[in-house]
Amino acid sequence: MSDPSAADAEGLAVAGADLPPLREVIARHGLDARKGLGQHFLLDLNLTRRIARAAGDLTEGTVIEVGPGPGGLTRALLEQGARVIAIEKDSRCLAALGDVGAAFPGRLTVVEGDALDQDMGALGVGPRRVVANLPYNVSTPLLVGWLRQARAFDTLVLMFQKEVADRLWARPGGRGYSRLSVLTQWLCEVRPLFDVNPRAFTPPPKVNSAVVRLIPRDRPLMDVPFAAVERVTATLFGQRRKMVRAPLKALGDPVAICAACEIDPALRAERLPVDAFLRVARWLAEGGASIESRS
Ligand code: SAM
Repeated sequence: MSDPSAADAEGLAVAGADLPPLREVIARHGLDARKGLGQHFLLDLNLTRRIARAAGDLTEGTVIEVGPGPGGLTRALLEQGARVIAIEKDSRCLAALGDVGAAFPGRLTVVEGDALDQDMGALGVGPRRVVANLPYNVSTPLLVGWLRQARAFDTLVLMFQKEVADRLWARPGGRGYSRLSVLTQWLCEVRPLFDVNPRAFTPPPKVNSAVVRLIPRDRPLMDVPFAAVERVTATLFGQRRKMVRAPLKALGDPVAICAACEIDPALRAERLPVDAFLRVARWLAEGGASIESRS
């Protein structure tokens, strides 16, 4: 296992130490931030190092970074000894990322393209970790894509808009409890790490941000098809303030479903625990509707 700090202790050159400050990189390559790409760059290397450290020992396997931009977080990941595959949609960033790659020979692969089109569970060798300051406009579809193949990843350390981050660990009846809470908690252990002030970004976003660590469970809370959980959560949270017997009509006979799944029909969806959603999904996946219509 390589120790990235060892070279420093022995007085040898530290990889990446000659890279220019990020502000200079942005000016040199004309990387004026584009709103449509969710570009809010982190220029404080202490903060990017803190995010990289939160992903644990990076010296084995592959770190996948979405949206490296000018490469601040990428540098921190490489300093921690990671091999990084970074997916960036904005071709203007490629030259700057080329310089970062040259400072860490053979350890950075940049893929130009849309992260939503990549099969990230098949990139590089395991263990795979995802570490990213996400473009907020696509953070939810990216997260759902990772959850769909959660076991492909060892750890995900992700910066979200705070309001979205809060949904990931929200409890029944709590603010932000939603479809994303159920999907995430079903498949992962969720750990809120720290909040980040808008002033830490260039340009500052209008919202607060937060870093979250997700550790995919060895076994999900219940073995149920993803599509079934998606359908049940979409149906019930579609009418989150109604008693569940109302939205359940879209899936079958609400009385039969509540009896089979041990749910109080008078409970509102926003108060239903995660395992209750999973029981309805299992009922659906096991042909609940057709069993019910035969009886
Ligand atoms: N990682 C850099 C940092 O922390 O300073 C930049 C983070 S910035 C919030 C989001 C980055 O994601 C930008 O570089 C943007 O160009 C890139 N991006 C936006 N949409 C993307 C997509 N669909 N696929 C890949 N990269 C994307």
